[in-house]
Amino acid sequence: MHDLILRHARVRGFDRPVDIAIDGGVITRVGAVERRAAEEIVLEGRAVVPGLWDGHVHFSQWARTRGRLDVSAAASVDHVSVLVREAEPTGMLVGFGFRWATWGETPTAEALDRARVAPTVLLSGDLHSSWVNTAAARALGCAPGLLREDEAFAVQVALGALPLPDAEVADAVRAAGARGVVGIVDLEMDDALETWGARIARGIDGLRVDAGFYAPLLDARVEAGAASGTAVAGTRGLLRHGPLKIITDGSLNTRTAHCIDPYPGGGHGTQNVPPAELADLMRTATRAGIACAIHAIGDHANDIALGAFEQSGARGSIEHAQLLADGDADRFAGLGVIASVQPEHALDDRDVADVLWEGRTHRAFPLRALIDAGATLALGSDAPVAPLDPWIAISAAVHRTRDGRPGWHPEQSITLDEAIAASTRSRVAPGNPADLAVLDAEPGTADAAALRALPVALTLMGGRVTHAAL
Ligand SMILES: [Zn+2]
Repeated sequence: MHDLILRHARVRGFDRPVDIAIDGGVITRVGAVERRAAEEIVLEGRAVVPGLWDGHVHFSQWARTRGRLDVSAAASVDHVSVLVREAEPTGMLVGFGFRWATWGETPTAEALDRARVAPTVLLSGDLHSSWVNTAAARALGCAPGLLREDEAFAVQVALGALPLPDAEVADAVRAAGARGVVGIVDLEMDDALETWGARIARGIDGLRVDAGFYAPLLDARVEAGAASGTAVAGTRGLLRHGPLKIITDGSLNTRTAHCIDPYPGGGHGTQNVPPAELADLMRTATRAGIACAIHAIGDHANDIALGAFEQSGARGSIEHAQLLADGDADRFAGLGVIASVQPEHALDDRDVADVLWEGRTHRAFPLRALIDAGATLALGSDAPVAPLDPWIAISAAVHRTRDGRPGWHPEQSITLDEAIAASTRSRVAPGNPADLAVLDAEPGTADAAALRALPVALTLMGGRVTHAAL
């Protein structure tokens, strides 16, 4: 007697539908299964893929963002003011998603004060700017106006200290499951390990979580023996120690991505961590078996990050890798550094990139070049920057468009199979965890829009149903 059998599943590599037997949270057989099970689910020929992972998430911020004012459509300071004025007047108003790089004016505290006297904070779509009115600056203990980089992050940390109800977190976990997600790499700026340990203990246990952390926690993690991939006791293996995250440059929209060539109007962006210091931190992590997740967006920042991997012997990923110098895709492959990329950002940024990276966009979001060089890709959302939904990332990676325009640099597209492989960590085969997503449409024939919205009928995580819409 098996624990569970999924009957009549369509699995890659089989010409006809098969059964999938699951025992103790693990796939034990794929093929014809004669024996019965405690529970059987008939899939009627639906496609089954491995459960999906999001390789880069800020989960608490994502859970909060789902209830925040959406200012992503704003095209000017005045436009934002209208959206803020129309918002429900309840205490601290937090908005998300503005992108001011091409507005031709810099947001000010005064403009936001005119729209709303009560505390109001807007976070930019790339999270590298925070726009704070006078009352909110007083409440959060920061400067008013447009804050960038570390000052902007400090505002987000202060907002993160406000209570986040479990119901909102549980809802976001359920929503991820409904998109076929079984696991995330959480790179939240507070202590994700502690946060998730407590959540799982309180029964919010629908996701596997690799909990990343930042440099201020490095010594404590080294001392605790927090080698990456090690399961955290008392979490049934759901929570694992994740990588050391280091943010080495800024972002395109904030004009702080560190680039070899100057931005129009000048400046090369910012290098937040000098190369020698970066390599030192990575060496310390590596000695303790801790992987490194190095944020690098501009081509110069990527060059420095790759150099730091070379010098330190670290393993891990470069997060974003949005603009690469010619030949640097080969360095990813040679060093075994994972390119942890967010394809939807290419579509968020294509118009800005065409201006700020004019003449260089053939090297932007170079997913095809990375795969052809032999590098390993991991897709993610950087939620809340993009929604926590792997099908959006997969569609963006395959089609490089979302609005009917021709694909942006279609020569850098990857195939559906490559995109799914870069979004999964297991296989539909015996011995693998029973992390599975059952699809309600055929992804291979879906166009860009249908792939983004691909319906998921059933999600299993460790053999447990975390989403069912059969
Ligand atoms: Zn991030």
